[in-house]
Order: sequence, then structure tokens, then C-alpha cells
Amino acid sequence: MECWKCDKPAKGVCRFCGRAVCQEHASKMPFILTIYVGENQIPKAVVVSDALYCGSCKPQPEPIEMPEIY
Ligand SMILES: [Zn+2]
Ligand SMILES: [Zn+2]
Repeated sequence: MECWKCDKPAKGVCRFCGRAVCQEHASKMPFILTIYVGENQIPKAVVVSDALYCGSCKPQPEPIEMPEIY
């Protein structure tokens, strides 16, 4: 697989969109694994702080509602 931005061999795949990127073009971005409601009804997120990010896509900061699935 080759990098989305250049034609070098990719080192990894963006956690958010699945594009392949080389080390030079890869970025890091917190990735929310799951959100749950903790004590006192405060929502908490389980986050991977340095997930691989391609720098091109635009991950939403929170899960978005998808009513059209139902
Ligand atoms: Zn690249
Ligand atoms: Zn991406």
C-alpha cells in the first residue's frame, strides 16, 4: 500500500478514515474509543492519545447521531 499523499510505501493506516500514510505524512490525534456516563452523570471518554491520523480527513470530536441507520 502506498501513502495517500505521496507514493512512498505506507507505514500505517489512519485510524479515522482508513487512508494509508507514510511516516512523514502521518500525524497523531486523540481517538475516542468509547464514551460512557461516569459518576454524577458526567460523560467520560476512553481515548487513545496518539492514534495515527492522516491529516486529511476531519474526524468529528464526538460520535454523531445517525438516525438514518434505523
Ligand atoms: Zn507520504
Ligand atoms: Zn484520515
